[in-house]
Amino acid sequence: MKYGRIIQKPRVKFFEVANGVFAGISPYRGISWANAGFINKGEGLVYDTFFDLFHAREMREAFIEVSNGGSPAYVVNSHYNSDHAWGNKVFEDACIIMHKEASRERLTENIAWMDNVIRRGKDSPESTSGERFFAAEFEGFDLEGVEWVLPNIEIKDDINIRLGDTEVMIYNVAPAHSDSDLLLWMPKEKVLFAGDVVFNGCTAYSEEGTLNWVKVLDRIIDEIKPEIVVPGHGAICGLNFVKEQRDYLLNLISEFNKHYNDEIDALSLTKQIDISRFLHWIQPERLYVTVDILLKSKRGLPPLPIWNEVPAKLEDMKAFLAGKYGNQIKPWDPMSVWKE
Ligand SMILES: [Zn+2]
Repeated sequence: MKYGRIIQKPRVKFFEVANGVFAGISPYRGISWANAGFINKGEGLVYDTFFDLFHAREMREAFIEVSNGGSPAYVVNSHYNSDHAWGNKVFEDACIIMHKEASRERLTENIAWMDNVIRRGKDSPESTSGERFFAAEFEGFDLEGVEWVLPNIEIKDDINIRLGDTEVMIYNVAPAHSDSDLLLWMPKEKVLFAGDVVFNGCTAYSEEGTLNWVKVLDRIIDEIKPEIVVPGHGAICGLNFVKEQRDYLLNLISEFNKHYNDEIDALSLTKQIDISRFLHWIQPERLYVTVDILLKSKRGLPPLPIWNEVPAKLEDMKAFLAGKYGNQIKPWDPMSVWKE
């Protein structure tokens, strides 16, 4: 892919995907290593703000460089998740726009708890196994100064934002990855900022949400037809990857239904699922988490994972996949996403 300017910061690399439109790509090391982006047109807009203020400040600096001292008038968050909205404090002078459901959903994430987990580190005997797992995933982040910034505008329908002579459409596509998903589409530039509606390694939260998620991917493929897609995590991509993501979810749904019975546990079910076409994704064993959620939601149980049990299950799954698929599993390279 051909890019315009490239701005390299220590944590984030900014690729100009259309004139004045930048994708901010983080190395994809694991959970929370998210992307964002900004548009230097009209009054300026930021889409997502990363997990901590250090990453968000790099985007603010890049915006200042490109706009000769400006600051963006708008922030749009793709959804509520910490790794897409906790940098908002850096842009709190902007008008912050979120989906109406984000304020409810975000209550499942606790800044003080996560900050503590990161500070104690991945080897702390004071931490539970679930907390040590998160600390390892979050190594490289620092939540100092993070505060939840309330949105100025909450939407539950599509809106258009005019940035000078550039039209930006915000599409409400929830529920898909979450109940608060907003896509940003630039029709003239054919650039789609997709948040976590598109990313390899995705987790689904309910059968209903997953089925709707497939419909959203269909709409991207058949109607929106972007040329450039900035995913919530991982490398800038195009429709080929959106199709691959749809296949992943369809495969998950059909395999889940094929192997489900009332007695089966999540780990046994995950092991029966054929994921041979997705072994190049980051941490293919993550599939366990989605299966666990789908299984519990089917049985009417609270669907969120019991995090203290997750690390051992993922280890088990990883060893199982290594045995089943051998060297078909390629080691994941977090820096591959920075390739030009
Ligand atoms: Zn994310």
